[in-house]
Amino acid sequence: MTGSTKGALLQRDGKRYAVVTRMPAGIVTPDDLEKIARIGRKYRVPMLKITSGQRFALIGLEPGDVADVFQELGPLAQPESAPCVKFVQACLGTEMCRYGNQDSIGLARALEERFRDQTFPAKIKIGVSGCQRCCGESQIRDLGIMGTNRGWTVFFGGNAGRKARIGDIVASDLTAAEVMDCAGRLLEYYQRNAHAKERTARFIERIGMETLKSELLTLLPYIQIEKVS
Ligand code: SF4
Repeated sequence: MTGSTKGALLQRDGKRYAVVTRMPAGIVTPDDLEKIARIGRKYRVPMLKITSGQRFALIGLEPGDVADVFQELGPLAQPESAPCVKFVQACLGTEMCRYGNQDSIGLARALEERFRDQTFPAKIKIGVSGCQRCCGESQIRDLGIMGTNRGWTVFFGGNAGRKARIGDIVASDLTAAEVMDCAGRLLEYYQRNAHAKERTARFIERIGMETLKSELLTLLPYIQIEKVS
């Protein structure tokens, strides 16, 4: 039987597929794990991989099994579609880490919920860290949020890829509510002004921080513009 492979990733062999899960902040329940394990056994998935984005990839699926795997994963599945928020990763934060200044897991979940259904010119990766040790890789994500003992710092335009880039600090000492507003406005600005397939790193290099400051950041009352790098 050959079903739809829509939403799955074609593998190197050009024949089999991978399906990726949705796991905001990398949190799973025992039920989630049991479901993934059951599906892995049932469809004889050759490899289950935890990705750098804190998700599971079920790798090596036969084409005819893809649609059934998506259906059985249900809300745990994240079909590949138009460019969107690929993942929101988070460190342990105040939930579990003795160094944590802020609740990175709670904020990551809120960000994922807010942006999960939106599309963008290119994929968006978000990293949230509970302190300046930055275990959530905030500085190399399109949108990075880092906790301090004064609130949250927001980075924009980071990238860990072939042409790596540290994101620019666009705001500091924000509350969680201000981060949500700032993130929404940054991504909306990016949506309106970026070229198709232009990642945030290349976008900010093209337009320059001065443009972002004058057209957006100076309009946000909670941003002290003299602190903007
Ligand atoms: S970034 Fe800070 S709070 Fe988060 S896991 Fe690392 S040390 Fe802990």
